[in-house]
Amino acid sequence: MKVILLGAPGAGKGTIAKLLTDYDGSIQISTGDILRAAVKAGTAVGKEAKAYMDAGGLVPDSLIMKIMEARLQEADCKKGFILDGFPRTIPQAEELTTLLKKLSITFDLVVNLDIPRDVILDRLTTRRTCSNASCQEIYNIKSNPPKPDGTCKKCGSPTIQRDDETEEAILNRLETYNQKTAPLIDFYRKGGLLKDFASLSSQETVDGIKKSLKK
Ligand code: ADP
Repeated sequence: MKVILLGAPGAGKGTIAKLLTDYDGSIQISTGDILRAAVKAGTAVGKEAKAYMDAGGLVPDSLIMKIMEARLQEADCKKGFILDGFPRTIPQAEELTTLLKKLSITFDLVVNLDIPRDVILDRLTTRRTCSNASCQEIYNIKSNPPKPDGTCKKCGSPTIQRDDETEEAILNRLETYNQKTAPLIDFYRKGGLLKDFASLSSQETVDGIKKSLKK
């Protein structure tokens, strides 16, 4: 499948992308994960991106497009891919359209995860993430806690609250989403590729996406 996931921070893009990769072997491409790995590795990209990320703002479009143009041409993308956290602005979406044309790739579906703001806020403040860059498993201290000592159930590394999960950064991320990313919903709706999913259960959403893909 070739799918774009749209939704506010905390809407469940990462969780749903992981469930979809289990379904047909398509790969998850998360620009957030790529950027966090770059920050951790201290690369030039990571150094440029860190301040924007910590404040809950967006990394410049030019940097993201450079990363994605290279990423979409890697061999594993042939299996299909789920874009999680990209595109995030109208310019990114426009450049993606051009890039996909150039690469002769067409999309199956754009998924809009439509989750109420109070649910999102609760999820973001209770989220924990595995600190191991190659794992990054996501937990929730209420509904899906890590091991009692706070370590990851998958790889045993400590789980942490991300630098952009302070209350101030969370409010900034939601504001940035409303201003810059929410307009993509109409952009893709006009193209006829968008479908809305409002369920709070990831499994129900994934089942709905599978159904839409079969049609
Ligand atoms: P969330 O969706 O939970 O906010 P992500 O892991 O997708 O988190 O992204 C974390 C941060 O990385 C964002 O707040 C932003 O600073 C940066 N980022 C990720 N993807 C993009 C993108 N496509 N364009 C600009 N910045 C991005």
